[in-house]
Formats: sequence, C-alpha cells, structure tokens
Amino acid sequence: MLVTGAGTPPVRHLHARAILDDDNELRFVDQRTFGGWTVVPLAEAIDGTGVLLPAPAAHIAADPFEEGFDALAAARLIRRRDTEIKRLLLDQTVVSGIGNIYADEALWRAGVHGRRRGGALTLGKVTETLGHARDVMADALAAGGTSFDALYVNVNGASGYFDRSLDVYGRAGEPCSRCGTPVVREDFMNRGSHFCPACQPAPRRVRKASGGRRTA
Ligand SMILES: [Zn+2]
Repeated sequence: MLVTGAGTPPVRHLHARAILDDDNELRFVDQRTFGGWTVVPLAEAIDGTGVLLPAPAAHIAADPFEEGFDALAAARLIRRRDTEIKRLLLDQTVVSGIGNIYADEALWRAGVHGRRRGGALTLGKVTETLGHARDVMADALAAGGTSFDALYVNVNGASGYFDRSLDVYGRAGEPCSRCGTPVVREDFMNRGSHFCPACQPAPRRVRKASGGRRTA
C-alpha cells in the first residue's frame, strides 16, 4: 500500500512503514498476518537478462510476457540441457510462468512429445514451442482467468477457459482436434501429461521401454 504524503494518519493492521526517497510512504497493512517484509540485496537474474531481482528470487527466470524475456536465449538454454522438454518448460530457472496445463497445450500445438530431450530438438522447434506457450497463456488471460483449474470458477460458476479451449489437457480418450486420434494421459512428475500419440510421436527410447512400437 503506497500512501502519498508521509503525514497521512495510520490505519489498523499497519505492521511496518517505510518513507521513500520521494517522501511517499510505503505501508504494510496485513489484517490476517500471513505476510511479511524482508529487506534483501538485489542480484542479477539467472537468465542473463541483466534484470535486478531480490536476491532470494534471482534464480527465477523471466516469464514469456516480461519485457526482458529472450525466447531465443531460453530456447538455447533448453537445447543445452539433456532433459525432457516438458520438464524444462516447467523449470522456473529456465522460464517461469508455464504450468502443467500450459506446457501440455503448448507441446500439442508444436507437435512435440513432452519426453523428447531438449537437445534432440531443433532451435527453431524449441523457439516455436515457447511461442505457443506464450499464446496459450495469452488465450487463457483473454478468456478471463490465469488458472485453468476446475476448482476456480468465476462469479457465474463457469470455469472459463477450462472446458472450451483446451485441446489435450483433461481430454484423455477424446479425439485429437487435429487428427482424431484419441488423446493419451500418462503420469509425469507426480502430475499428468496429455498428448496426441499421432501428432506428438514419443521418442524412440520411451517406446522401447514401454514395450510400444519401435518404428522411427
Ligand atoms: Zn493428433
């Protein structure tokens, strides 16, 4: 809470206040006492954008909507890591803000299986996937919610984007809207991955391990 004029009378539940250089007063008003204030040094963000962040948050990379977000740099980072692309999309030291549902939708749009390794994809394909993630997030925002979770409903009781616009997430067994092949769900990182096995072919190693087809 930023209060103009340092002489403004105090309010209830005021726990801390700071007089800023411009004489404005920054107040910490916390009725439920769940919050806190900490003074920490600034540090350069891990993503190399040169942005200064509070040191405890410096390991968090930019999200795709930030001015400093560099999709090409993030794509290069992903290609250097010998890990599954979906794991990297969810890794906030690589890119932040992409949750499980956004990742599944972005990978479907890009036609990339989430278990493919970052280093096995072309730079163009990784950049395209990041672009899709940004688009999915933008679509969700436009539809009136940052959360797809069915538990979060708007005042009319509708969960907004959830039912209408998702192509694979939560649609296991339903036909892929691009090719008609039934969408598959598999366990991944204690959650679920949803994908079209035709549009997003699994990497060969995964097929072998699961006893599936061994075709390229
Ligand atoms: Zn498909």
